[in-house]
Amino acid sequence: MSATTPKKMEVGEEVKAAVTHVTVPSKMTAAVLYGSEDLRIEKIDVPTLAVDEVLLRVRLALTDGTDLKVWKRGYHAKMIQPPAVFGHELVGEIVAMGKRVDPRWRIGMRVIAANSAPCLRCYHCRRGQENLCDDLLFNNGAYADYMRIPSRILRPARHSRNGCAHGRHRGGHRFGPIGLKFVRMLSRRGVRVIALARRAAPLDVARRLGAVATINVTETPGVVAAVKALTEDQRGPDAVVEAAGNPATWQQALAMVCRGGVVNFFSGLPSGTHIEIEPATIHYSELKLISPFHHTPRFFREALEAIRRGDISAHDFVTEEIRLADLPRAFERMKSRSGEIKLAVRP
Ligand SMILES: [Zn+2]
Repeated sequence: MSATTPKKMEVGEEVKAAVTHVTVPSKMTAAVLYGSEDLRIEKIDVPTLAVDEVLLRVRLALTDGTDLKVWKRGYHAKMIQPPAVFGHELVGEIVAMGKRVDPRWRIGMRVIAANSAPCLRCYHCRRGQENLCDDLLFNNGAYADYMRIPSRILRPARHSRNGCAHGRHRGGHRFGPIGLKFVRMLSRRGVRVIALARRAAPLDVARRLGAVATINVTETPGVVAAVKALTEDQRGPDAVVEAAGNPATWQQALAMVCRGGVVNFFSGLPSGTHIEIEPATIHYSELKLISPFHHTPRFFREALEAIRRGDISAHDFVTEEIRLADLPRAFERMKSRSGEIKLAVRP
């Protein structure tokens, strides 16, 4: 929490004119990523606004698997280059807005902000592949008292036509928080999910979220055979979602999927990573390989709808609430995966 005396934002006359009934301090507390496993709590300037941007008072931010990966690696080629304020999942309320912001946004409004926005003009955006936008804008800075939301993110999301819904397949999964969400959403759709993980804690959660079987890969010799043994005629799952972010699990996913099946390589591996595959297994088994990246505005909206319906409950995924000042130590704990799924960070 900032100890500085609150005052009106000095962000140019136009913005100042638009700030109503709210005082914003000039300094704020934020978690700044400097590099690999180097996250520092610092006092920095509250972001300044352009005339078409808004400022949120962050009420709660959430950690996710990408954060843990980026914290370990120290950067993300597309999403964040240090030094930068870290974090990208948050809820907050609008406390300041530029003069030219669309009037449907109002001071005091409680909002959730996407962490990226496509340009809507490039080749991929025109084809409904906004996640592949040539100029995808990422917005970081949720682990702070205040966060600036660029105009592009404030724009109404249009409908797009791509999707990655899977049918009624059995799935084998490897995972962290994202993998558990796959377990939950697929189970809700009637998919018989087999969950795989290295530790007991996430497997307990997976069973609670609807997995029909779980396999602890550290205790199971012959993981591929063990998964196949749980499927009809030992053919393997119709679909495999790889959400562990590991070259070895990419290979296992290919080895366990049923002929004619789908492998969803959901996790991203760092540039320069190579895995060995046998093309014959792909061609003669007619495997379909997909590797969806990020999300489109439409999926963001659908995720909110899933929460509204109750398909996803915060209680199933948020294991703890911490103060912003404790975030660096929390990442150290998450590194050893002591049962955390998502942490709620309160500035
Ligand atoms: Zn674009």
